[in-house]
Amino acid sequence: MHVKKGDKVKVLSGNERGKSGKILKVFPGTQRAIVEGLNMIKRHTRPSQKNQQGGIVEREAPIHVSNLRLICPGCGKAVAVSRKRDAEGRVSRVCKSCGEAVG
Ligand SMILES: [Zn+2]
Repeated sequence: MHVKKGDKVKVLSGNERGKSGKILKVFPGTQRAIVEGLNMIKRHTRPSQKNQQGGIVEREAPIHVSNLRLICPGCGKAVAVSRKRDAEGRVSRVCKSCGEAVG
């Protein structure tokens, strides 16, 4: 995946198009990610031990990573990244716009 937990990303399409936020969690299996404060859905929950009232809880729903673009810490733009392997064989991501390594 081109994004990971802790990345700042911008949403390219869907209801949250144009907004940005931080990735809280990624789901490699489904190629989706939870972005803080975006794509909120209301869930109706039954009373449980944690939430004795039950009722409606708002939470983030996962967004498909193809709709997300990394915001480069170097140039501040929503960019595409390429992968580069260093001398020790570690793979890092590089901003295609400014060439900065983004980790
Ligand atoms: Zn950049």
